[in-house]
Amino acid sequence: MAEIKQTNYDVIVIGAGPGGMTAAMYASRANLSVLMLDRGIYGGNLNNTAEIENYTGFKSIMGPDLAKEMYEGATQFGADYAYGAVEKVEVVGEVKQITTDMGDVFTAKAVVIATGSSQRKLGVPGEAEFSGRGVSYCAVCDGAFFKNKHLIVVGGGDSAVEEGAFLTQLADKVTVLVRRDQLRAQPIVQDKAMQNPKMEFVFNTSVTEIVGDDMKVTGVKTVNNVTGETGELAADGVFIYVGSDPMTAPFKDLGILNAKGWVETDATMATKIPGIFAVGDVRDTLLRQVATAVGDGAIAGQQVFKYLDEQK
Ligand code: NAP
Repeated sequence: MAEIKQTNYDVIVIGAGPGGMTAAMYASRANLSVLMLDRGIYGGNLNNTAEIENYTGFKSIMGPDLAKEMYEGATQFGADYAYGAVEKVEVVGEVKQITTDMGDVFTAKAVVIATGSSQRKLGVPGEAEFSGRGVSYCAVCDGAFFKNKHLIVVGGGDSAVEEGAFLTQLADKVTVLVRRDQLRAQPIVQDKAMQNPKMEFVFNTSVTEIVGDDMKVTGVKTVNNVTGETGELAADGVFIYVGSDPMTAPFKDLGILNAKGWVETDATMATKIPGIFAVGDVRDTLLRQVATAVGDGAIAGQQVFKYLDEQK
């Protein structure tokens, strides 16, 4: 891990996912002093992603492996990396002051927000109770616990379908419960999954409760959203992929979020506060992909340099 040398930087990048790591690489390669602050291991949502087959340059790569490659690229020009859960960002004159939950204070001339999004909870009884005991939000982390078992995946987007397909490499059978009569996932992702003999789709079905014994999940209670018929489905694990919410709590007082909490930027990744930029999934954007986050990061890294040059 790159060693942290100081508390005052040209640029502090908050969040070390694909967007943040790319912004850090571009800014440090332009000879700026850069700190990436992240509340956990670098990689962001890449760490919850199994196989990626739509990131240019790799026919297929596992999320955590791509995270490692990106981290090595991001730190090769001197960017520092430190653990820190950012609690607040304040603008003090020309300076941006960043405070972590441990009370550490960092200052920078410019900030790049790259905190991404967090997986949404389903919000049904049993979900919190059985979290880590059969309820999971990460196939790549927890799939191996379910070799030759029956799993339920909840959701119908790219994440549900792709992670469900990954789970079929371990489990005997994966049943995907979809609340509407159709999937939201991209057609190519759907087509591949429909041909997977270990994957089954049940449409118009919502989970109303996750049930289990003292130790672990044993199944889910369901309702058919068309007929109203209720039922119960036995399973050894439940993987939840029902979308994501922005991780923007530390920035709520800056006036840069839209009504749904995503950060608003212009095409240069600038927010309406001079010197504060945002990239990747945390932005109010059309497409949330590794490729788009990386593109945003490149633009922001370059624009930060331009902004600081103009301040001289
Ligand atoms: P998403 O696209 O927002 O899909 C969420 C899915 O969960 C939808 O099918 C939604 O149903 C369903 N859902 C929401 N609330 C639910 C509830 N309470 N009960 C049951 N189902 C519920 O989220 P995502 O799949 O996490 O993807 C997030 C973003 O990342 C997307 O832009 C996606 O394209 C992108 N992504 C891309 C790739 C890739 O390109 N390979 C891989 C993963 C993610 P409705 O359809 O009825 O709303």
